[in-house]
Amino acid sequence: MAAYTGRFAPSPTGPLHLGSLVAGLASFLDARAAGGRWLLRIEDLDPPREQPGADDLIMRTLDAHGFEWDDAPLWQHSRLDAYSQALLTLRDAGHVYPCVCARKSFTGVYPGRCRGRTFAETPGPYAVRMRVPEGAAVFDDRFLGPQRMPWTDVGDFIVRRKDTLFAYQLAVVVDDAAAGVTHVIRGNDLLDSTPRQLALFDALREPAPTFGHCATVVHADGAKLSKQTGAAALDNRVAGASLLTALRCLGQDVRELSPDLSPRQLLTEATVRWDPGRVGFARHVSAGGAPVR
Ligand code: GLU
Repeated sequence: MAAYTGRFAPSPTGPLHLGSLVAGLASFLDARAAGGRWLLRIEDLDPPREQPGADDLIMRTLDAHGFEWDDAPLWQHSRLDAYSQALLTLRDAGHVYPCVCARKSFTGVYPGRCRGRTFAETPGPYAVRMRVPEGAAVFDDRFLGPQRMPWTDVGDFIVRRKDTLFAYQLAVVVDDAAAGVTHVIRGNDLLDSTPRQLALFDALREPAPTFGHCATVVHADGAKLSKQTGAAALDNRVAGASLLTALRCLGQDVRELSPDLSPRQLLTEATVRWDPGRVGFARHVSAGGAPVR
């Protein structure tokens, strides 16, 4: 196993946009600068949200932007047995319980109403919730430094939905553990997920990776770039310009990088110059790469 294994894990809900490029680029450069491996995983766990062909489109876009990944990409739909197995492990160890509460029956953090329920005495359908520990989740973010999140702010969270789909939180941990991922580098819109994933690594007795969260790219009105907010798809014809913008969004110094370089050359140059110490410069950046208050 390489000393460093990173990954990019897009959901095939639509084409990649600048926000996804920033997260993918951060994970790629951090891995390559460390001489590590970089894996691609397609997170197709939620069919109603997916767009047919988006996985293919994502891979072609990554290719046009000069990215090369190690090994064959992994599709989460091929991993359902592994998620079932992990759920059994959690269940046998008493980390999870069945929950029959409707999402609309509470606001904010789940109040733990079903904590006392047992699987044997609860007829389906039910969601499966993970019991969070006492105290606080503490971790050292690669870009943001020490983080502390009280478990009372997180609450018991769903690992398998009532409609029997596995939750993102469980799948991501099972897959990162199986692939030997040592560094999870992604956008800070997922910072809230990190305590949940740390709890799962711990409960499944797997070593937790290092987490690093880079800036999210926002529209002028402050809304995160996403398919829902109408973010523009990356245009392969201007891949070099998009890479330079994404590097600015990561706080990197691009003054010596010529826009005439091919995407692959740009990535090579950016890897040599990669400065993880500059990534935490902003929580939110505009589509031009400037920090947003
Ligand atoms: N599939 C998730 C997304 O596209 C990312 C998961 C992760 O990086 O942990 O937002």
